[in-house]
Amino acid sequence: SAAETDGSGPSESQGSEGMCDGLFRVVVLGDPGVGKSSLVGIFRREQDRETAEQQPELYQCTLTVDGEDTSLLLMDICEIQKRTNGCDSALRMGHAYIIVYSVTNRSSFESASELRIQLRRTRQYENIPIILVGNKTDLVRSREVSVEEGRACAVVFDCKFIETSAVLQHNVQELFEGMVRQIRLRREGADP
Ligand code: GDP
Ligand code: MG
Repeated sequence: SAAETDGSGPSESQGSEGMCDGLFRVVVLGDPGVGKSSLVGIFRREQDRETAEQQPELYQCTLTVDGEDTSLLLMDICEIQKRTNGCDSALRMGHAYIIVYSVTNRSSFESASELRIQLRRTRQYENIPIILVGNKTDLVRSREVSVEEGRACAVVFDCKFIETSAVLQHNVQELFEGMVRQIRLRREGADP
């Protein structure tokens, strides 16, 4: 097959306003272990196995939201790139971002804030859709970050917020549909 990837994502680098064949690059960020691959993996089930093996960190899916199809390229790439370049290219290549923390891990919540700050710094003049995600809500007894804290953080950082459980598949569809709606809103707002 012609598919080739070294984990650095698509070879052509485009401006964030440009998108390739209506495909939006959605980069999933967050500390190791918070559930990024699990969240993306829920959609991967629909993908053929060969593609999944060749590109385990990239996944294309088409969502029908409000009667309209939107294709997303979900990029679960930060772990491959982590610390080599401080996720810098990941911060540059996305049209939209999902920043995940685990509600059972306060330090992952703090990392999420740092990622948001880095993203704002890297993409200063762009109005990028971002959703902050508190994952692992099923682990009720080990919760360290309350829903109120998550919500307040999203207000401060001017992004959307949702809590999910990848294991129970709770709010995962809502997360990705919300992403699509965010992308459409910006697109409509940005186009002259
Ligand atoms: P990543 O490193 O961010 O990609 O995290 P993974 O998706 O690999 O998940 C790390 C671990 O957390 C795995 O053992 C998952 O099964 C578990 N995990 C992920 N999401 C959830 C969740 O919503 N609830 C629970 N209980 N465990 C989860
Ligand atoms: Mg992973």
